[in-house]
Amino acid sequence: MDDLQKRTWAEISLPNILHNYRAIRASLPAGCRFLGVVKADAYGHGALPVSKLLQEAGADYLAVSCLDEALELRQGGITMPILILGHTPHEYTETLIRENITQTVSALAKAREYSAAARALGLTLKVHIKLDTGMSRLGFLCAGDYFDRGVENVIASCQLPNLEPEGVYTHFSVSDEDGADNERYTREQFSLFCRVIDAVRDRGGVRFAIRHCANTGAVLHYPEMALDMVRPGLLLYGYGDEAGKLGLKPCMRLVTTVSTIKHYEAGTCISYGRHFVTPRHSRVGVLAIGYADGLLRSLSNRCSFAVAGGFAPQLGNICMDMCMADLTDLPQAQVGSEVEIFGPKNDLNALARAAGTIPYELMCAVSKRVPRVYHNSEFGDRSSEL
Ligand SMILES: *Cc1c(COP(=O)(O)O)cnc(C)c1O
Repeated sequence: MDDLQKRTWAEISLPNILHNYRAIRASLPAGCRFLGVVKADAYGHGALPVSKLLQEAGADYLAVSCLDEALELRQGGITMPILILGHTPHEYTETLIRENITQTVSALAKAREYSAAARALGLTLKVHIKLDTGMSRLGFLCAGDYFDRGVENVIASCQLPNLEPEGVYTHFSVSDEDGADNERYTREQFSLFCRVIDAVRDRGGVRFAIRHCANTGAVLHYPEMALDMVRPGLLLYGYGDEAGKLGLKPCMRLVTTVSTIKHYEAGTCISYGRHFVTPRHSRVGVLAIGYADGLLRSLSNRCSFAVAGGFAPQLGNICMDMCMADLTDLPQAQVGSEVEIFGPKNDLNALARAAGTIPYELMCAVSKRVPRVYHNSEFGDRSSEL
């Protein structure tokens, strides 16, 4: 990157993403397909570069949340199968078909709309049926008293003309959470998923080529639920408390720089709201990152960043474009020094906990103002110096 432009940037290691993809793949049963979740700009890593890498590496499927995200990939030259996880209005059926995009179908009424639209065009739309087994979000209801109706509606959807039901899936709500109750809930979701698939086959003669349910939590904790395809997002990017279990590497390093350094007497108020008062003579750096770059304001006064020589506690309220950090004990840190907000030295999971959120949100928060710089080297070596 042009040194004069150095303010704040996100370094993305493509080799680390490839490493993670291969490591996850190696842990799967033979023949299991791999769908890479690249919604939300590949969790902030850049949907197009990540998708190109996965396409070249031999992944089987990609998933995005909406039509715009799918079209971005098609326009960028991605030819592999793409599944839209969310809703697409039936008015766009022709675009879906012409761009060879697979659409989720989550209710009989929607299946009818897509079928009618495809029929009018004389074309066929590829779909995956989504079952709601306990997430209570999108999907055919099939738990408890809804079982028979759910099975009937799935069969009816699959028998509509001009729809090609290639796959069926469900989504877990607590596969990534510890505890016997969460394990019981996940196993019940899985069992219901399998029972609906069996009933749809037995009562309607419908067989799906691709049954999938395993998100990051299930890939890690329930390998027996891999079925025909796994569907990890977070894990691909090397995050989550247990990513280390598979030897995965974080793929994003959010870096800013020290804009200026000032010395203050004890008793000086720092930033908006005067929520931090220096307890001693302090050497304070102004960092070129704020909440408009994605550094959540809720982290104010509750986090530290990696600088040459150690960790600098963040001081006072985080502003829109800047924040302050204590460099008193870090004399090596100078104007222009790099500061790692998160990455191999400063764990994103810990930062997320400090913010009262999850790593997903912090990755998605890195805003479009922050340039992505793609590396062809691995930076996951935790022992290397900044
Ligand atoms: C986002 C999403 C995933 C990926 O979840 P991770 O926890 O990041 O692995 C998988 N399936 C669906 C339906 C999703 O919406």
